[in-house]
Amino acid sequence: MSEFSLDLSEDQLQIQKWVHDFAEDVIRPAAHEWDEREETPWPIIEEAARIGLYSFDFMTQCFFDPGGLMMPIANEELAWGDAGIGLAIFGSALGLAGIVANGTPEQLGEWGPQCFGTPEKIQMAAFAVSEPDAGSDVSSLRTRAVYDQAKDEWVINGTKTWITNGGIADIHVVVAAVDPELGSRGQASFIVPPGTPGLSAGQKFKKMGIRASHTGEVILDDVRVPGHCLLGGKEKLDAKMARAREGKKSNSQAAMATFEATRPSVGAQALGISRAAYEYALDYAKERKAFGRLIIENQGIAFKLADMKMRIDASRLLVWRAAWMGRTGKPFVAGEGSMSKLYAGETAVWVTEQAIQIMGGYGYIREHPVERWHRDSKIYTIFEGTSEIQRLIIARAVSGIHIK
Ligand SMILES: Cc1cc2nc3c(=O)[nH]c(=O)nc-3n(C[C@H](O)[C@H](O)[C@H](O)COP(=O)(O)OP(=O)(O)OC[C@H]3O[C@@H](n4cnc5c(N)ncnc54)[C@H](O)[C@@H]3O)c2cc1C
Repeated sequence: MSEFSLDLSEDQLQIQKWVHDFAEDVIRPAAHEWDEREETPWPIIEEAARIGLYSFDFMTQCFFDPGGLMMPIANEELAWGDAGIGLAIFGSALGLAGIVANGTPEQLGEWGPQCFGTPEKIQMAAFAVSEPDAGSDVSSLRTRAVYDQAKDEWVINGTKTWITNGGIADIHVVVAAVDPELGSRGQASFIVPPGTPGLSAGQKFKKMGIRASHTGEVILDDVRVPGHCLLGGKEKLDAKMARAREGKKSNSQAAMATFEATRPSVGAQALGISRAAYEYALDYAKERKAFGRLIIENQGIAFKLADMKMRIDASRLLVWRAAWMGRTGKPFVAGEGSMSKLYAGETAVWVTEQAIQIMGGYGYIREHPVERWHRDSKIYTIFEGTSEIQRLIIARAVSGIHIK
């Protein structure tokens, strides 16, 4: 048994510095512009692809990092640069996570690289679960997938909403109901390959924050995909549904398996925003004078900064623990993945609000980035499971009672 240590490995330290430098030199200076333009920052994604940061290879290195911390470390640094641009770069990883969680090694080998493409031909991926009438309640998806045995094809119909990279992605990983009566146990994930007829982009949403990240509707109208696009394969799905019909327990739910794996990384993005706002507010408080003294000399300001730093560090510890548990196969007995995302998300909203308060009027105007960080932070209590849903997961895990 190795000694307990929070020291990062050489590899992790190197990646942390590499991503941080990119965030500082390329992302930060462009953040305001892309927030205002509310468009996908293609030149920045191209630059990230050119240095290998936007690539299947780098994502695989993060996914398979032995201690599991490389993914949250990279996410924290990117979001420190800018959460919207960070998500434009890391959004494809959510689609990839859907493949890693539910696909076979052959499917990962075939579709994984296509989630990113090459620096010459960049591709994107999306993970599409949410629907207009099914957000938190993923068991009630209306999108249907019906098997056409004669052609060995799946026919998918439905509408997905609020999908990161939705409609502009090349690879859409779509979760659909095969047997709606079985709820989430009757669902499966499908790859919709690039250029498949019937898949089209619906509206692009205008948002409060993370505006450089594309969020859109995906319309699936008689979309036909080959049988091998069912992640995990038909045999596995048939066996899972048979077990569900017999009332037996199951350990695999298509959407949930993906979210468990991605929550600590999403928490890490929130952490990156918190850290950015804290650092900015700390510097400001050490320069701004009121009543003839620096504002940090007032306990009212200094104690805020102390609490901000403490909550940020607590967020990081929860994120790292969950990422390590996920990677090393420790079961989440108390909803530790949910805890990490819940705490880091709520901390980001709180810390960015404190940062605005510390900066007074300057905090509220667009000349400074803290108002943007506050707008960006709010999504972290909503997507990948709202704060309420995370509390539900934790409460159910610790109590053993199916709390509603
Ligand atoms: C910018 C953005 C990007 C997104 N990206 C993606 C994506 O890439 N892929 C994807 O599939 N989805 C994505 N989503 C969707 C997101 O995951 C959902 O919005 C989220 O899960 C909440 O669902 P909902 O909006 O339908 O809220 P609802 O489920 O309608 O919830 C409304 C409110 O009721 C509360 N609530 C619901 N049920 C309970 C309960 N049992 N107990 C207590 N409170 C409850 C919720 O917490 C919330 O406060 C994205 C959303 C946004 C805004």
